[in-house]
Amino acid sequence: MSKIMYYSTNFNSELVNFREAILQGQAPDKGLYIPNKFPSIFLDEILSMKNMTYAEIAFIVTNKFLKEEIPEKELKRITDEAYNFDIPLEKVDENNYVMRLSQGPTASFKDFAARMLGRIIQFFIKEEDKEIIILTATSGDTGSAVANAFYGLENIDVVVLFPKNEVTNRQRKQMTTLGKNVTSIAVNGKFDDCQAMVKRAFADSDLKHLNLSSANSINFGRLLPQVIYYFYVYSRLGNGKKIIFSVPCGNFGNLTGGLIAKRMGLPVEKFVVAVNENNEFPIFLESGKYKPIRPSKVCISNAMNVGHPSNLARIVTMYGGRMDEKGIIHKLPDMDLIRKDMFSVSISDEKTRETIKNAYEKYKLILEPHGAVAWAGLEDFLSKEKTSLICVSLETADPAKFPKELERTINIKPEIPESLKGLENKEEYVLNLDKDYNKFKTFLIESFK
Ligand SMILES: *Cc1c(COP(=O)(O)O)cnc(C)c1O
Repeated sequence: MSKIMYYSTNFNSELVNFREAILQGQAPDKGLYIPNKFPSIFLDEILSMKNMTYAEIAFIVTNKFLKEEIPEKELKRITDEAYNFDIPLEKVDENNYVMRLSQGPTASFKDFAARMLGRIIQFFIKEEDKEIIILTATSGDTGSAVANAFYGLENIDVVVLFPKNEVTNRQRKQMTTLGKNVTSIAVNGKFDDCQAMVKRAFADSDLKHLNLSSANSINFGRLLPQVIYYFYVYSRLGNGKKIIFSVPCGNFGNLTGGLIAKRMGLPVEKFVVAVNENNEFPIFLESGKYKPIRPSKVCISNAMNVGHPSNLARIVTMYGGRMDEKGIIHKLPDMDLIRKDMFSVSISDEKTRETIKNAYEKYKLILEPHGAVAWAGLEDFLSKEKTSLICVSLETADPAKFPKELERTINIKPEIPESLKGLENKEEYVLNLDKDYNKFKTFLIESFK
C-alpha cells in the first residue's frame, strides 16, 4: 500500500503527510485533514487482541497509520506512556455495557486523545528544534486534558480559551491552576465564540511566525487515538459478531474515531449518535438539511453544547459529500448510507436527569450527564429496534466532576478521584477577554514575541 496522505475537507489544499497534518492542525483552506485511505485490520487480528493490554492494542492500531511517520520503537514508548490507566467495562444487564473512559488524569475521555497527541507533537518538534504554541478552545474538558498533557513540556506553550460562564468550577480550576507554560483565557462568550477565534487565528497570516498548532478535535492527531478504544472493547466483548455503540456527541470527534474504526474493518452494526438539546444532527439525518444552532444551547452535559460540530465536515466527506467550515453543504453525502450506519437522537436535560435517576435505581449504575445522554440514546434505540447484539454505551466523564448534579438527582456524593483532589486551595492564573478577535490577536502577538 502506498503511503497514507491527508487531504482537506474543503478540497483546496495540498496533500500532506501525517506530521504536517498534526503540526498545522487545520488545512490552509480552513478545511480539516482526513486520510486519503484507511488501513484495514482483519477480524483475526482484532480477535487476537483479546489478551493484549490497552497500550499494546493502541500500538497496533495506530502503527497502521504511522508506519512511515514514527519509528516503531518511539511509537511503542508513546503508547506505553500515554495509556497507564484503567478502562473499566461495566456489565449493566444481559447484553448492555458501559465503558468508562474517565479514569485518566483529568477524569474525562479527552485524556485518551490529549496524552497521545502531546507525546506525538513533542516527538516531532524535538526532531527539528522548533517552538510551537498549542491553541485550543474548550467547552470544559479538552482544555484541562490538553493543558495537563502538555504541562511542563519544553518548547511548547499552551493557550486555552474557554467560555467564562459555561464551565464548572472544577473544570475551570483544572485549567487555571497549572501555570508554567499554560495560559488560560476566560472568554465572555460561548464555546462557539472561542472556537471561531481559534480558527481565525490559524488562518491569520500575521500570526504565522508563532507556529500555532491546535489540539482541538480539528487536529487529526486528536482523532487517531479515539479509534483505539473501539477495537479494545471489541477485543473484550466482540466474539466475531457485530456490536452497537452509543456515543455522547459534541464536536463529533469521538464518533468520527468510531467511524474510522468501522472503515478499518471493525464489525459495527450501528452507532447511536446521542446529542443533548443541540439537535442539529438528528434533524440533518431526518431531513437531509443541515442548519447549525446559533447560539448553541446550554445543557447540563456542558462538553456537548456545540451547535455546529467541527468534525461533521469529516463525516460528510467520509460519506462522499462536501461541507465547508461554515456548515454549508456543497454536495450532499450518501444519506441512506449514513442512516444505515447511524441512529441519532436528542436528549433533553429533563430526560438526562431522569436517566441518571432510573439507571441508579434500576441497576445501581452511576452516570454523569454526558454518559446519561448516551445511555438514554441507547435505551431509545433499543425501544425502537430489537437486537440481541452486544451494546456498549460510552461514559465520558467521571461522575465526581458533577457533584451537584448527582447529589440533586440521586443523592450521592461521588468519590473524588486522586487527580481532582486539592484543587480548591490552588491559586488560579486566568486572563479575561471579550469575544473580540482583534484583542485576542494583540494578546498573542504581545505575549509571544
Ligand atoms: C468532549 C466531550 C464529549 C463530546 O465529545 P466529542 O468528541 O466532542 O463529540 C462528551 N463528553 C465529555 C465528558 C466530553 O468532555
